Amino acid sequence: MQTISVELSAPVSQDLRETLLKNLYWTDRAITNVDLSDGDPPVLAVACSDSGDVTGIEAKLLTDVAEMLSSPVPVRPRVVCERRNSYGIKLTANQTFRELSARGWVSPELPGVFVYAGPMADLYHGLDRAFGDLAAGLGARQVYLPSLIGTDTLLRAGYLRGNAHMANYVYHIHEDRSAISRFVRQLTSGLGGIDLSELPTTAPSPEAILSPAACQPIYRMLSGRDVGESFVASGYVRCYRYESGAMQGLRRSREFGVREIVYVGSKADVVAFRAGLLNVCSQLLGRFELQGVLETAADPFFTDTSAQYRTFQLSLELKHELKLAVGENETVAAASVNYHGDHFGRLWDIKSNGGETAYSCCMGFGIDRWCLAIFAQYGFDIQDWPRSLREVMPK
Ligand SMILES: [Zn+2]
Repeated sequence: MQTISVELSAPVSQDLRETLLKNLYWTDRAITNVDLSDGDPPVLAVACSDSGDVTGIEAKLLTDVAEMLSSPVPVRPRVVCERRNSYGIKLTANQTFRELSARGWVSPELPGVFVYAGPMADLYHGLDRAFGDLAAGLGARQVYLPSLIGTDTLLRAGYLRGNAHMANYVYHIHEDRSAISRFVRQLTSGLGGIDLSELPTTAPSPEAILSPAACQPIYRMLSGRDVGESFVASGYVRCYRYESGAMQGLRRSREFGVREIVYVGSKADVVAFRAGLLNVCSQLLGRFELQGVLETAADPFFTDTSAQYRTFQLSLELKHELKLAVGENETVAAASVNYHGDHFGRLWDIKSNGGETAYSCCMGFGIDRWCLAIFAQYGFDIQDWPRSLREVMPK
């Protein structure tokens, strides 16, 4: 193990801190851990495996850190509503995750991919049902969403511009009997692992990506259509993002479940529906007696261009996040509300009201993070939970 230390010139904002901790894993494959001290000046400690070329990695790190530090200072988030409980938070995200694992309610399949059992599975399922009912109350019809998204859908939506590194690409073996036989022989030869390099025509051209976000296929489905007065749908889908060394228990996992609500219609109706969705967020804090905050937000940035987009998102209040407390000084974004203007209407040629370009907004609930925050705030004895949360669990 080798460690590279980089002294920063001045303290950094919470936002920039998270960006550094999350994105520096992508500087080089040999990086195994990234830490940032709280001191003044803060010092980055980057651990690399012994096989890494330290001088080369250090040069790349300095360039990447300089780029992230020089990104435009984002506009400060605006708090829409906040709810605090007087009795404090029981556990941090890490403590909660450790306890869920110790009880066998969460078991790893892969780093960042888990099996849920017992009360964790009950809560997960119960919350999705509660969010689904809430969506139905807003007039949403149920849709079933695929886990495989066409690469052309995501390319057209521009999703890969800032997120190519997090996508889980899906390959299939090309139709070639002799290549398959060779491949199968290699698989069964006892050498372990799967090596696609023997299938040269397969890997370079994935035609699908595991769903990185829930709502993209809905806009594609509406392509070329006039939705009339409005279209409101709700669907549940498993989503996938590869986060390298930044994966962290249920806080940032590779596979997670999302309940999504999408509204498409005229500008005035979308603006009104978005206001209703923000209301839903504050009502949920009250209903489940959870500590959290609803505030304006921006998508995490990876490149210069996405850093600029964040300032744009924050200043125009295009994105809101409902952040639930896990520990006294930590939160997880458990839901987001996104206003797209007529972006998807133009992109996919979606009309409303007999020919106007449609506007849209959406809301996604990250169900796994709701579970994490509920266990962190109320502990593992369900009898101690507020009645509204007990009612979510199966009888
Ligand atoms: Zn969405």
